[in-house]
Amino acid sequence: MRIILANPRGFCAGVYMAVDVVDQLLDLCPGEPIFVFHEIVHNWHVVQRFRDRGVQFVEHVDEVPEGSILVFSAHGVSPAVRAQAQARRLRAIDASCPLVLKVHAEAIRYARKGYQILLIGHKNHQEVIGTAGEVPQAIQVVESPSDIASLSIRDPNRLVYLTQTTLSLDDAEVCIAALRRAFPAMEAPPASDICYATTNRQKTVRILAPECDLVIVVGSRNSSNSVRLIEIAQSAGTPARLVDDAEALEDRWFTGVGRVLLTAGASAPEDLVLGILRKLLDNYGGTIEQHEVYREDIEFGLPASLKNIMREQGIDPGSRRIHRVDAGDQVAAWAREQGVGYATVDLTVGHTA
Ligand code: SF4
Repeated sequence: MRIILANPRGFCAGVYMAVDVVDQLLDLCPGEPIFVFHEIVHNWHVVQRFRDRGVQFVEHVDEVPEGSILVFSAHGVSPAVRAQAQARRLRAIDASCPLVLKVHAEAIRYARKGYQILLIGHKNHQEVIGTAGEVPQAIQVVESPSDIASLSIRDPNRLVYLTQTTLSLDDAEVCIAALRRAFPAMEAPPASDICYATTNRQKTVRILAPECDLVIVVGSRNSSNSVRLIEIAQSAGTPARLVDDAEALEDRWFTGVGRVLLTAGASAPEDLVLGILRKLLDNYGGTIEQHEVYREDIEFGLPASLKNIMREQGIDPGSRRIHRVDAGDQVAAWAREQGVGYATVDLTVGHTA
């Protein structure tokens, strides 16, 4: 079987940062209880591994004992949650992705200028709840064009749309086009809110899926961007399966499959991808071809609240930053180690840095 491995795949810079923040806290504050508001990222294994190390996940701030450490997840939180944490004198560490916070800042800026904001996204998603909570009086959430009829618009000339960062590019376009037809003067944000990681992973699947018989996406059910990858593969006419790990693979999916595309959502760790590669090779033989479509090299600064804890411990955070390079170069070494056939196919169409 030919195994086509998509690059980029897996951890984006925001997820990498959020996971790193909790890792660092476990090192900086040994023995101290660490609470995380909501799942740090939407991946079952990441959350379970932290649970095994004593981290506690909560859905309400009042579950956290006064004075404890509380980490806000990569999806961001509303000012109401931050205020509740302050009222309980919690030591809040903000691991929100900077690209989510960029959307929060846009919402605040437009609301101050008197705009009504149409936030395209999934109503119950943690990120949308956090963004909408910044300026609830100015935001209405639009999940699909069918929501347009029930919008309450004060002045159609003072209207802007923003989006959740992990939407399907295609679905967002459909929604934006429908909104434009209804409100031709509606403005757009200065740049797309759908983040680089979502965009690159979706475009990569769109390019590679049509030449494959099956697409396997590593990710959890509640990971918005992983589910979008499944939808994109299916809309390209290729059957697709979402799996948390190698255990979830079923033999019957591979009957008659000559070429399988393997990718991973932005919250799925690379070791799970390698576990699946190993199982596919063991069960069906074959070789790995990594098809490189985008290269990624992104840096974020450490959250200021984490730097404060480091200083309290006598550690100078200096100019430390969190640096995430795509997983492309790791698999060649793994393949050598495992003694399996490996090749890279360079289809690079972009570099995000
Ligand atoms: S998917 Fe995008 S917005 Fe979400 S954490 Fe990753 S980089 Fe940030």
